Amino acid sequence: MTIRLSNIHLSLDEEEATLPEKTAQVLKVLPEHIQECKIVKKSLDARRKNRIHFVYAIELSLPPEEGKKVIQEAPAGLQIEEVLGQPIPAPVIIKRKPACRPVILGTGPAGLFAALKLCQSGLPPLILERGKEVPERVKDVERFWSDGTLDPESNVQFGEGGAGTFSDGKLFTRLHDPRVSTILNIFSRFGAPAEILYLQKPHIGTDRLRRVIMAMRHYLEEQGAEFNFQTKMTGLKIIRDHLQGIVVNDQKEIAASLLLLAPGNSARDTFQMLFQAGVAMEGKPLAIGLRVEHPQRLIDRIQYGPSAGHPRLPPAEYQLTFRSSRGRAVYSFCMCPGGAVIAASSENQGLVTNGMSLFQRNSPLANSALVVSVGLDDFGGKEPLAGLEFQRRWERKAFLAGGGTFWAPAQGLLDFLQGRDPSSLRKTSFKPGLTPARLEECLPAFVVESLREALPHFNRKMPGFSSAEAMLIGVETCTSAPLRILRGEDFQSLSVRGLYPIGEGSGYAGGIISSALDGRKGAEAYLKTLGVSRV
Ligand SMILES: Cc1cc2nc3c(=O)[nH]c(=O)nc-3n(C[C@H](O)[C@H](O)[C@H](O)COP(=O)(O)OP(=O)(O)OC[C@H]3O[C@@H](n4cnc5c(N)ncnc54)[C@H](O)[C@@H]3O)c2cc1C
Repeated sequence: MTIRLSNIHLSLDEEEATLPEKTAQVLKVLPEHIQECKIVKKSLDARRKNRIHFVYAIELSLPPEEGKKVIQEAPAGLQIEEVLGQPIPAPVIIKRKPACRPVILGTGPAGLFAALKLCQSGLPPLILERGKEVPERVKDVERFWSDGTLDPESNVQFGEGGAGTFSDGKLFTRLHDPRVSTILNIFSRFGAPAEILYLQKPHIGTDRLRRVIMAMRHYLEEQGAEFNFQTKMTGLKIIRDHLQGIVVNDQKEIAASLLLLAPGNSARDTFQMLFQAGVAMEGKPLAIGLRVEHPQRLIDRIQYGPSAGHPRLPPAEYQLTFRSSRGRAVYSFCMCPGGAVIAASSENQGLVTNGMSLFQRNSPLANSALVVSVGLDDFGGKEPLAGLEFQRRWERKAFLAGGGTFWAPAQGLLDFLQGRDPSSLRKTSFKPGLTPARLEECLPAFVVESLREALPHFNRKMPGFSSAEAMLIGVETCTSAPLRILRGEDFQSLSVRGLYPIGEGSGYAGGIISSALDGRKGAEAYLKTLGVSRV
């Protein structure tokens, strides 16, 4: 029988290989009775700096009698439960075949996981993607980072894998949905390391993620899905509130009665087109701010104290929150230990920062976004496209402040805090380069004021955070979609039948896993309309 045991601790100096032996001692069973021992959860407890340790949950196979005895006589303080086998899912049966082939827009996590679900149900879709395949896209992005030449259709936001391709690849979500473990299993099946299945905060890095995404495409193609790259949706054909077709590249029309729409949060021209086509949408609050970059060893020292530098410790992370005197939320977002600050623009004349890392997280620098909440009243109420124009306005200011060549404006954190002119800049990971600038000129006054109020507080929480070793880089504007494409309980647009807005860009997710989850749920909702007996 299989039992799950939680709350097993290992010190930094204890080898993971000792887990079965240690467990046998705790449970008072013979080590040879443990037939299998699998880690199902692993987290780091660094709350007490003099007692940093790992915490595990494991699953063990024991002979039935031994297992029952262990559960009945569990020592106090140990959480033990029997693991029951999962029922084998019944096969999917589609009762009605759709008139047209289903279409998916976008190859980000939402689009890819919707495609996997449709293929699994015997309905391989047509997939439209404005950007290029990973290898060509990587070349375009490398060129942008080296000389500032932006391709507005092939960049950090647009192309195979969506925004996730150049991401930090943090694969966790706060959502509790049984599909999350299915999604992680799928990532693992396509090449993500097995540890993502049990780490509390799984991370894969942009290098591994690129390979996983290409492996998913090859599999989907084998299942009959058809990928069309450099194919941008530029119009919709809607007749009597029903989707009839999709115009691509301003030329060709594709007959379609279903579109799973997963455009990501930066497809501003697409949002404008959808708005003009009468698709119901509304403005959504957002957050903007700056990226902060520190030496990783400083963050390690702050977070790990005397244990900093221990070979078993990963580069340290942090999460900071603050409520300003005017009620604004100020918080760190998308923290990238051992990573790089990157230029993530998709529009000419607009500078957007973000963060990424490799699987190894071995850069000497740590970064995160420090952002301030922005409400609808800050940019003109519920008018659907107002948030998008607000983002653009500050991205343009940052672009100009950086010199108009995609060099980013930057300032030492203390200079920003004290309103001083920028002095010399520290070593950075940002490419193509940084221009010393007064960052207060690249952000609304209320954002500057809130950040200046929050930074001393952050320094109290993490002494050394607001120090001469920290540098700020501007501006971080694309933390979420600036609008929501309205949909009903059935996932269909409130104004166009057959249109299923999904993922981050449609306003229903934020992050790789939640977007993948929303994509899968969107596909399930569509399958229900076909009379599927199990989805
Ligand atoms: C640098 C960076 C780092 C990140 N790090 C993390 C992280 O560590 N963890 C995490 O959870 N999240 C991270 N994110 C966020 C995450 O990548 C997104 O939440 C996620 O990719 C959203 O998925 P999506 O499928 O909804 O949209 P996207 O991934 O944005 O995909 C949308 C796709 O649609 C395509 N498209 C848009 N318009 C059209 C059109 N008109 N016609 C055809 N195709 C179109 C785009 O080209 C794009 O490929 C990061 C994002 C960035 C930019």
